[in-house]
Amino acid sequence: MSTPTSTTGAVIPNLNSVYSGVPTRLANEAVAAKSRLDSQRTVRESSVRKTVSLPPGIGKEQFERAINELKSSLGRENVEINDKPLVDGWYMQHPNTHDAYHIADQEDLTSSAAVYPADTAEVQLIVHWANKHKIPVYPISMGRNIGYGGAGCRVRGSVIIDLGRRMNKILNIDADNASCLVQPGVSYFALYEEIQKRKLPLWIDCPDLGGGSVLGNAIDRGVGYTPYGDHFANHCGMELVLPTGELLRTGMGAMPGKDGADNPTWQSFQAAYGPYIDGIFSQSNYGIVTQMGFWLMPETGHQSYMITFKHEEDFEHIVEAIRPLAQKRILGNIPQLRHVIQELAVTGKPRSTWYKGKGKMPREVIREAASKLPCGDVSWVFYGTQYGDQATINSQLKIIQEAFGKIQGSKFMLPNDLPPDHYIHSRAQVCSGVPVLRELDWLNWVPNAAHLFFSPISPTKGKDAKAIHSVITKLHTKWGFDVLPTICIASREGHYISNIVYNRADEDEKRRATGLMREMINESAKLGYGEYRTHLLFADQVAETYSWNNGALRRFNESIKDALDPNSILAPGRNGIWGQRFRGKGWEILKGDQRDMLKDGVAPKL
Ligand code: ADP
Repeated sequence: MSTPTSTTGAVIPNLNSVYSGVPTRLANEAVAAKSRLDSQRTVRESSVRKTVSLPPGIGKEQFERAINELKSSLGRENVEINDKPLVDGWYMQHPNTHDAYHIADQEDLTSSAAVYPADTAEVQLIVHWANKHKIPVYPISMGRNIGYGGAGCRVRGSVIIDLGRRMNKILNIDADNASCLVQPGVSYFALYEEIQKRKLPLWIDCPDLGGGSVLGNAIDRGVGYTPYGDHFANHCGMELVLPTGELLRTGMGAMPGKDGADNPTWQSFQAAYGPYIDGIFSQSNYGIVTQMGFWLMPETGHQSYMITFKHEEDFEHIVEAIRPLAQKRILGNIPQLRHVIQELAVTGKPRSTWYKGKGKMPREVIREAASKLPCGDVSWVFYGTQYGDQATINSQLKIIQEAFGKIQGSKFMLPNDLPPDHYIHSRAQVCSGVPVLRELDWLNWVPNAAHLFFSPISPTKGKDAKAIHSVITKLHTKWGFDVLPTICIASREGHYISNIVYNRADEDEKRRATGLMREMINESAKLGYGEYRTHLLFADQVAETYSWNNGALRRFNESIKDALDPNSILAPGRNGIWGQRFRGKGWEILKGDQRDMLKDGVAPKL
């Protein structure tokens, strides 16, 4: 078979030869996705560097001496200075030098170098080196945290510890225990393909796109869509290098196994004895995770479906109908409720197919376009999946149809009722643990598309969901963006994920997207709604909204940070947590900060 290439001749990396590559089964799909993205690209593939970023407070010669020291310990080929043109690439060929979806200047959030450890001992060595030279390091697993900062580091000139490139082994799959133990560079694609190869009756749980790191996504508290969709809740045991270089295993891994082996219960029981500490290593900068255990789901029957709702005002009623179904766990997975505009976006066609005007796409235009799609002229679309044997699925579907049937004009559809190229077929795969690429399609919405997620948590109550939706809609109209909401409902809460898709070559769009994010964070917080996750550059502002009792949570986080990381070397600023060396020195981008990120940058003026 010849190597698949896109229309621009780009070779798509294959998982058989590269840990971060695409599985052969998706090679053609990847080519098509890349070609579609290229057809929307007007910006040059790479940009000439203005400067090479150095760590703060470190001169060029001092940096070179420190880097040479690292090279002599790890091998020259495993330390790479970031001095070449910056290439944004695309999902399957993403950079580890900067945030490919830059919202500030492309040069901001760039590293000074990347280092590729081979094992945990080398990670410890790098951490000792960072402490010695007071150089901030920023760990990534795969670096595909797109929409949240990608592989960018908050403090420009940090050294990226790219763990995935050489630490990408599946260390164990325990078929009897239905669990696995992985290194940072294991993607959902890789874990899935390995389970298929071994013909094990197990499912993984993956997010919308399959190229991310299983470990990286979990520690950033990402979600997927099977009953195991809460990734952090389904992890079991971690190995970490602490910011001082000390090695720690959490959970039952803290107890040595017989004759020095791993503890046999490490992937069976999450807590150990004493405080359950794993949580503090998620969305934080307290440790570098080098191994992590996960539970896998025993395979089962499944049936995906779609329910459409006619009226815009049905939103509140739909959420009210979802709540009892979610609380009673009749809804099998983490279902999604999307606005109908998303049905246009997932066709992969640019918005200009339907509307060439500026600002938010008018409702009438959406209506007209949707009426020509399989969903028809509706307002909301619910994607769900039920699990178990056929009898269980049938009885659950009956309850679900009855509940949603009370909403006038709702329509229930199975994948067979929809054309073969409809998005539901890729949802059915994701919801049964098959990682795919289809979700890239909505990136064709605008040229040179990048995106930011605004992700507040809503109680599963119509009134609250509506309040959030109203704020988001009002502010998207003000700042001139389409509202692309997806509400992922777990049980008592929903992650309301609003996707701001912007042209990264257009400074005005970047400024407006930034303004929109900042105002949405403020306005939601005033009503008591907070984000579960955010892009690196909005982390300070989001962290600041968790201000109860004079910011008790922030102060607690800072106490832990300073105790564990006395030199503030590990990922300063991540999740709004700065070590004492950086704190209060102008790095924080808080509410009311008047800077123009594009013009003024995101670092303090020294
Ligand atoms: P993915 O490729 O799965 O999206 P990333 O590698 O981009 O994930 O990780 C998401 C974020 O989590 C990173 O930006 C980084 O801050 C943090 N992170 C990733 N891997 C590790 C790790 N092994 N140890 C500590 N933090 C990590």
